Amino acid sequence: MRLYDTATRGLRELPPPPGPIGMYVCGPTVYGRAHVGNARPFVIGMWLRSWLRLRGYEATLVHNLTDINDKIYAAAPGRSAELAEQASAWYFEDTGDLGLGRPDHEPKASETIPEIVALIEELVERGVAYPAGGDVYYRVSRFPEYGVLSRRLGEASLRNPSEEEEPSALKQDPRDFALWKAHKEGEDTWWDSPWGRGRPGWHIECSAMAEKFLGPVFEIHGGGLDLVFPHHENEIAQSRGAGREFARRWMHNGMLRFVGEKMSKSLGNVVSLREALDTWGRETLLVYFLGGHWRKPLDYSDEVLEQAAAQAESFRNVFRQSSEPIGEWEPFATALEDDFNTPEALAVMHGWRDHDLLRRGLEVFGLESLAASEAAPAELEKLARKRAEARERRDFDEADRLREQIEGAGWVIRDVEAEPGFQLVPKR
Ligand SMILES: [Zn+2]
Repeated sequence: MRLYDTATRGLRELPPPPGPIGMYVCGPTVYGRAHVGNARPFVIGMWLRSWLRLRGYEATLVHNLTDINDKIYAAAPGRSAELAEQASAWYFEDTGDLGLGRPDHEPKASETIPEIVALIEELVERGVAYPAGGDVYYRVSRFPEYGVLSRRLGEASLRNPSEEEEPSALKQDPRDFALWKAHKEGEDTWWDSPWGRGRPGWHIECSAMAEKFLGPVFEIHGGGLDLVFPHHENEIAQSRGAGREFARRWMHNGMLRFVGEKMSKSLGNVVSLREALDTWGRETLLVYFLGGHWRKPLDYSDEVLEQAAAQAESFRNVFRQSSEPIGEWEPFATALEDDFNTPEALAVMHGWRDHDLLRRGLEVFGLESLAASEAAPAELEKLARKRAEARERRDFDEADRLREQIEGAGWVIRDVEAEPGFQLVPKR
């Protein structure tokens, strides 16, 4: 099994089963409903764990929630803790509805304060960090490897400062970053520390949470490509600066693009995971994610989602017909062993007509429910066809009436491009 590693810019073999394989995948900062792009690292982490376990690995997935962060204080002045709590509940609910189960550990920064403070104390003792005016900063000049992951060495590491790193007169070097921040007027949460009341910086939270659950060295650290610098560069500086080996390889997933632009809250071009689930259903959404290689950007548009819906439907159709001994496991496994190539694995599964084999393949991705697909009753199919005809002659009143009748019977109509132009799915 080999995976692309950002640190070495090449494919690297995993140790042989049973490993163990510890995986730490950075989760979202919780200050609103997660956007559909936030689901990608979650989905990839859960699928990879599922595949590794099938291969005989002992795999553990840690996926954190950043519930202390400048963005949260800014989003809800005076009530950041309440917002973080609410947004965490939304995240559990929305990712839960993907039907992939849960990671092994889902730590929150606010529940890891003693470990965070202890790690900062160690860094200060080693001279790699220094307190200044109630803050504590990491001394980048003491870590010669700084910039190796992102290949931003020397001057380049000054560009694109972290969105949460404001310049501070207390820093000895502009590259230095905050491990601990003194409590500021208006912030509703703080913790006591050897440096006074305050709260942790974003990067140290992940160094501490990863070590708490996976120990000082583990195989895979994942997260979105936008986290390479400075977040992951700083995690490496902190953990290696404290003498830990830390992550052995780095797996960065490509971003979701909404009409060609990176999807992000700050750009405002955001579709929430909730909205995506409600519009398309979990099966279509998962097939959509399968269709993109984890390292590449993935476009999000109605058209691409329509195609995913049609693909999900074609799997259901295989189970509506009789099983034929067509298909082999091997090319499917080969695709996944080679940098976890899910689009290739998806293409292989489309060739399968053997029900047991297809069910086993779909199960790796939480899609075994496609095997249990029931065909809609014939009379509803007939109503749906009548509705399509009504729409064609632009009799929208009649079309709406038929849709309501179908929904009343517990089924939802989705318009798709593939013949016959609609799809009937049971109401969830
Ligand atoms: Zn992180």
